[in-house]
Amino acid sequence: MFESLSEKLEGAWRKLRGQDRITEGNIDEALREVRRALLEADVNFQVAKEFVADVRDDALGAEVVSGVTPDQQFIKIVHDQLVALMGEQNVPLAEPRAKGRPAVVLMAGLQGTGKTTASAKLALYLQKNGQKPLLAAADVYRPAAIDQLQTLGGQIQVPVFTLGKEADPVDIARASLERAIADRHDVLIVDTAGRLSIDDAMMAELERIKAAIDPEEILLVVDAMTGQEAANLTRAFHDRLGITGAILTKLDGDTRGGAALSVRKISGQPIKFVGVGEKVEALQPFYPERMASRILGMGDVLTLVEKAQEEIDFADAAKMEQQLLTGQFDFESFIKQMRMIKNMGPLGGVLKMIPGMNKISDDQIRQGEVQLKKAEAMIGSMTTQERRNPDLINLSRKRRISKGSGVSLEDVGKLLNDFGKMRQMMKMMGGGGPFGGGMPGGG
Ligand code: GDP
Repeated sequence: MFESLSEKLEGAWRKLRGQDRITEGNIDEALREVRRALLEADVNFQVAKEFVADVRDDALGAEVVSGVTPDQQFIKIVHDQLVALMGEQNVPLAEPRAKGRPAVVLMAGLQGTGKTTASAKLALYLQKNGQKPLLAAADVYRPAAIDQLQTLGGQIQVPVFTLGKEADPVDIARASLERAIADRHDVLIVDTAGRLSIDDAMMAELERIKAAIDPEEILLVVDAMTGQEAANLTRAFHDRLGITGAILTKLDGDTRGGAALSVRKISGQPIKFVGVGEKVEALQPFYPERMASRILGMGDVLTLVEKAQEEIDFADAAKMEQQLLTGQFDFESFIKQMRMIKNMGPLGGVLKMIPGMNKISDDQIRQGEVQLKKAEAMIGSMTTQERRNPDLINLSRKRRISKGSGVSLEDVGKLLNDFGKMRQMMKMMGGGGPFGGGMPGGG
């Protein structure tokens, strides 16, 4: 997801590498690269312009931090601005407004964006979270929309309310709410009709449905492939309906990242979920932090840690995340982390979760595996004290480790060097808060 954007942004900070600080003189070129990357990723022109202006202000105002290079600092500033733009946190669905009433979610969007699919996905997601959803089929125009929703509802065992395709969508919505109340559902998801383009009749109908059921949420379903159009689309729906959030679909495809930024900036409302596949399970909450890290191609430590949590003890993972982010980890946590990564599956699969690395070749993966094995052997030859305090390792200790593990002295030196760099980078990245830092050798 977002590969193209992250790849292009890399050029921006390469320009700052080797400089000793950010100045009026060297920042403009990097900013131009950022803006170009955003535009090429189909971020709306105005959105990109304002974004770049904010980054410029922040970067020029930033204090010089010793041990941090300008390009690292620049990445952090771009990252923070991206997070700010996309909303600081994941925003959950609204609660029911009153007791005895479900939370009503009105789904809106153009035809083909994945609205019907997203309705079912959301129902399944909520059901897994212990809720009791009802789906309502109010798209009476698209042939087979009702059948499609019924089929999906059957798959996930969520009831689908329908009055057939002759009924008025407003009546369907109203009656579905009555049904939801009578059957004590806690969520009602109303799938509505889309058109191929923004159209007054569609908007008027949505306004009438809104007036009839007074929904807690009006979610705009946006196809992530929409690109530049996402801005206009968002504005049109938001002006007429006052959307409360959005679902970005088809993020699994070869899609540009631009829509995510535009939707948020134009409406001021959060993206709440992302669709990542055709299957009814393929829905995830939207996490701005993670998306920003992905866009920047710095890897996604949070996702890695989360995946690892399925494999290892929760307390262990939390501690490790803390260590990673504060740079306090040593070779003991390093080796634990390596084992954890191994448990997560073949190295190739894990590496491919790290954006910018998805084009990594099988050859490189094999080399990586060899490196990991070597590192494991070297750490195995260290004493507990050395593992806990790598600074202890002087030349004679290096010689001993090299002999003990059967690797060259240079390899031992390189491991210590890489480890030191990694620790410093993590510390730098973790400084700003709960932020997914880089990976060794990345960025
Ligand atoms: P609607 O007209 O807005 O109700 O759109 P549909 O729900 O019928 O979806 C249109 C097409 O997009 C279908 O073929 C879906 O399977 C597909 N689709 C929906 N969401 C996603 C997604 O997140 N990823 C992918 N790859 N396809 C999706």
